[in-house]
Amino acid sequence: MTPSCPSCQAPFTPGAETCARCGASLLVAPAPGGAEPVCAVHPEWRSVATCPRCGAFACARCLRQGPEGAVCATCLEREPLGQLPWDQREELGTLKAFWRTCFGMLMRPTETLRGVNPDAPVGSSMMFVLLSAIAGFLTTGIVYTAIIGIIMGFVPETDTGGADPKTVKLWMTVGMAAWTVLMPLFSTGMTLVNAGLDHLILRMGGVERGFSVTMRAHAISQAPYIVGVIPFVAVYAAPFWAMGLRAFTYRTLHRTSWGTALAGALLVPVLSCCLCGGVYGAIVFAAIKSTGQL
Ligand SMILES: [Zn+2]
Ligand SMILES: [Zn+2]
Ligand SMILES: [Zn+2]
Repeated sequence: MTPSCPSCQAPFTPGAETCARCGASLLVAPAPGGAEPVCAVHPEWRSVATCPRCGAFACARCLRQGPEGAVCATCLEREPLGQLPWDQREELGTLKAFWRTCFGMLMRPTETLRGVNPDAPVGSSMMFVLLSAIAGFLTTGIVYTAIIGIIMGFVPETDTGGADPKTVKLWMTVGMAAWTVLMPLFSTGMTLVNAGLDHLILRMGGVERGFSVTMRAHAISQAPYIVGVIPFVAVYAAPFWAMGLRAFTYRTLHRTSWGTALAGALLVPVLSCCLCGGVYGAIVFAAIKSTGQL
């Protein structure tokens, strides 16, 4: 909630003591005998806002710009304004901001998220997801493409019955290259769907912040995919690492309980796993049954 001028009701930036629109002082004495709340620190002034962290009434002199909006000076001192490197893209450059955020999330997640703005535009989060996906799949994809290319080079050129063997080889390599490019895009799209489902669960758990907060938490939790620059390892290890980290980012950015955060992070993957497992099991069962009947 943005605080507003007691004289003209225009919103003002925390830290200001006079109104930028009407010029009136934002420090106003309470009306005698009035019911208006006064500042918790300065009872001689009217409160212009309540601190979202501690709930205390604050006058203009006590208000500060915190990552989530106007907070009281005491709270800001206790938990200062943190900045996620990803939010400093303009100063750092996108790649450096991405790398630093990933590194911070892997090495010291608590410090990295301390006091950062829990909210961010969905587009900014999606860009982070795309970079993680590229980092996660690209090296492995390139290595696979190279391996297929090399193997194809060794395959003797036998007659394939009409199809030109050179063309077949070329298309297999091109197919692998296409997978390398499309996989990160597909994975980014899936992330949006998964974050949406997670958000529904978090909402049921009593979370009040919006989807963009869930999206941001989900995006940051993809940081382990950076390990994907080492081929093979990350494609298999990173999803589990990210899932664990997601419970932590959901808990921190939504300020919710471990129970709700864990449900939000794990329920969708576990359910979709059961669903896939169920479908797979049904196929196997049907196959066994049909062979038995033969
Ligand atoms: Zn004013
Ligand atoms: Zn406070
Ligand atoms: Zn005050």
